[in-house]
Amino acid sequence: MTTTHKVIPYARQDVRESDIEAVVRVLKSDYLTQGPLVKQFESLVAKKSSAKFGVSFCNATAALHVACQALEVGPGDVVWTSPNSFVATANCALYCGARVDFVDICSLTYNMSVAHLEAKLIAAEKTGSLPKVVIPVHFSGHPCDMKRIRALADQYGFSIIEDASHAIGGEYMGEPIGSCQYSDISVFSFHPVKIITTGEGGIALTNNQNLDRMMKLYRSHGISRDAHAPNDEDHGGWFYQQIRLGHNYRITDIQCALGVAQLARLDDYIKHRNDLARVYHEYLADLPLVLPKVESYAYSSYHLYVVKIDTRQTKISRRQLYNQLVENGVQVNVHYIPIYWQPYYQSLGFKKGFCPQAETYYNHAITIPLYPTLSSEDQHYIVRCFQEVPW
Ligand SMILES: *Cc1c(COP(=O)(O)O)cnc(C)c1O
Repeated sequence: MTTTHKVIPYARQDVRESDIEAVVRVLKSDYLTQGPLVKQFESLVAKKSSAKFGVSFCNATAALHVACQALEVGPGDVVWTSPNSFVATANCALYCGARVDFVDICSLTYNMSVAHLEAKLIAAEKTGSLPKVVIPVHFSGHPCDMKRIRALADQYGFSIIEDASHAIGGEYMGEPIGSCQYSDISVFSFHPVKIITTGEGGIALTNNQNLDRMMKLYRSHGISRDAHAPNDEDHGGWFYQQIRLGHNYRITDIQCALGVAQLARLDDYIKHRNDLARVYHEYLADLPLVLPKVESYAYSSYHLYVVKIDTRQTKISRRQLYNQLVENGVQVNVHYIPIYWQPYYQSLGFKKGFCPQAETYYNHAITIPLYPTLSSEDQHYIVRCFQEVPW
């Protein structure tokens, strides 16, 4: 094969004519931001996910930051998360002045290992360094075992933020991911590589009215209009009070119009992603690759289709496999470099070797293209590229 084939990205948004029309309608309307589409999008996502409240944000990073603030994460606190995630999952705790620590992953699901979490909690209890918040990440759209994490939260007294950036539309034990049945807050991302998009955007879901209120407060400068105006003649309908140090982390109605249009196709997207995954399962099964596994409690949203090269059976390395696929126009990617390998985290004192499972996983993983508009022809081209690798 030559390099003449068109480039197939690892992920891509699906924006249709009707989405564009919905966005244009907002542009011609009275509200570009803080209008009806924002509220509509929030309530539709919350309803779809079986959560009570939805607070939209300009991106999921902002949602994670404010989720930590609403749970009163601050200096002196520790937040634990998975090293196999995007840096934003850990940065949100640092923004609050807290420390971050990492729990190694499960070698089957690539999610935070519940066994490692439990062992780390037992050790932390002895040294009085238990986490205030744990942030499990539903990596690739495959849910973490939330029931077991909830049981540990009840025993050790931490709060839970689910980083469900990959996972809208997926299910855990038959319930939508994001329902917060086992957590305090769940966060989705609507970046264009994710399941549905608003361009940039995110949402935090919760069943707790106070957390809902606090997240809305921090989203918008810490300004409250609920606070009662002092009863004197100099205050009227214009009155507002800033009661916390918040941000402007708002999303626009323009973006939410796109989100509402996309959300209507969520079930089709997830089904299609699962269909594409089945084709890969079938055609890649005989190659020296470890294919994704789905636990019996899970319906994966398949945001990512990750294969691991079984280098005990191959002459080539992960890097050679990556290079060959990219040369053929198959724009594979790698998710994720362990967060604590990043220079910034190394400067905080983290050392290589800290989470051996996450490191071994990272050294073998490749994310191959999977998105709803991936044509059957392109998918079979990708399969052919894999079959022609000089293993
Ligand atoms: C994409 C992503 C984020 C950040 O989302 P943004 O909307 O880009 O801020 C956070 N965590 C994970 C796991 C992600 O994949």
